[in-house]
Amino acid sequence: MTTTASLPHPSVGRSSTLTIAGLRAAVGGVEILHGIDLELHSGEVHAIMGPNGAGKSTLSHVLMGRAGYEVLGGSVRLDGVELLDLDTYERAQAGLFLAPQDPVEIPGVSIADVLGAALAAAGCEADAEPAALGAKLAAEAAAIGLAPAFLGRALNVDASGGEKKRIETLQLAVLAPRFAVLDELDSGLDVDALRAVARRVERATAAGEPGAAGLGVLAITHYRRLLDELHPDVVHVLVKGRIVASGGPGLADDLERTGYAGYAEPEVEARPIGPDPFGGLFS
Ligand code: ADP
Ligand code: MG
Repeated sequence: MTTTASLPHPSVGRSSTLTIAGLRAAVGGVEILHGIDLELHSGEVHAIMGPNGAGKSTLSHVLMGRAGYEVLGGSVRLDGVELLDLDTYERAQAGLFLAPQDPVEIPGVSIADVLGAALAAAGCEADAEPAALGAKLAAEAAAIGLAPAFLGRALNVDASGGEKKRIETLQLAVLAPRFAVLDELDSGLDVDALRAVARRVERATAAGEPGAAGLGVLAITHYRRLLDELHPDVVHVLVKGRIVASGGPGLADDLERTGYAGYAEPEVEARPIGPDPFGGLFS
């Protein structure tokens, strides 16, 4: 059932590559990821779909280096740099961004505080200037329909699920990373908000100023709706900690119709098939 997708390589300059190879990881003492291989280039959108509990969020946390997630093997390289050796903040500075499935609330710290500190730490002093940052935040908030009142409020505190997803998108837009992992960015968003958020991400994937490559996206989602706006180059199906199929955008349509039932567990597929115990009794 596995199909091979041809990956478009962006022709723009300074293109980056995120290479996940043989990634195995455990959480709570249980191996969840059993060897993930995936290569993502600047400007590409790869969707990851899969049933609940497949390990999609685990993958996102392992990529970003969340405490409690134990890497058992494999590598994650961004332009050759091993991210698994880096602290989370160093991965962020290397250009990786995660919009988590459940963004945390941080009382007492505003969006402007967070983004100002992040931009300054990344050496973007001019962008971190309060006036410049304020103008940028206001413009980006308007683009995705986030009320300006959120900009001065504590991060994610008293925000609805959908508002938190817009706040994540705002951070993505301002920080302009090389690669973004979006874990169910569509959850909690109404149709209009979904379209605005997806279009903003889609815009980021296009090459920016001359020579700059576009954002590469790993979009974890359950729904084709997001992918209607955020046109994926490749769709991967993750089942029980393994990518069991990869294909073009049509794969998302197939999944919407058929669900994941057709994707046999790899362990079962890999089992040697013995002689037919009924010996052709019923043939
Ligand atoms: P998905 O995002 O695909 O729905 P997750 O990555 O959240 O799946 O979870 C994969 C599996 O890992 C599930 O069986 C879940 O119960 C388990 N898991 C996730 N986090 C923990 C944890 N902190 N401790 C133990 N098991 C966990
Ligand atoms: Mg999840």
